[in-house]
Amino acid sequence: MKTRVPFREGLFQGSDEEGSLLGARCRQCGQIIFPGREACLNCLGHDLESICLSRNGKLYTYTIVHMPSEHFTPPYAVGWIELPEGVRVFSQIRGWQEYPLEIGMDMTLHFEKLWDEEEKEVVGYVFRPSTNGGA
Ligand SMILES: [Zn+2]
Repeated sequence: MKTRVPFREGLFQGSDEEGSLLGARCRQCGQIIFPGREACLNCLGHDLESICLSRNGKLYTYTIVHMPSEHFTPPYAVGWIELPEGVRVFSQIRGWQEYPLEIGMDMTLHFEKLWDEEEKEVVGYVFRPSTNGGA
């Protein structure tokens, strides 16, 4: 059994159905940002609190990528998911072969293996069309 490791620290917590993306809310102006940063993108304030973002959002825009990348075999999909908090999250999108993507459709957060690395399984967040039944 390989060790599951996040592809980047601090972006999300958990790696199952209980997990969520970690954003930040500015206590000065209320701006919500993802990923969390040292300073607010709106007012540049430093008084930020970490928050868990919604697991469901809507597809804002997407692209089917046909160029090979280091870890992913084309074609694969990437896009922006708009969450109820008003933030847009850039993510790989899966399940689009089964459920053709449409702008505005409901999308659900999943944590899945992105690629293998010797002794490790690198896990990250992806979004799938909500009609995918969580499979
Ligand atoms: Zn702010």
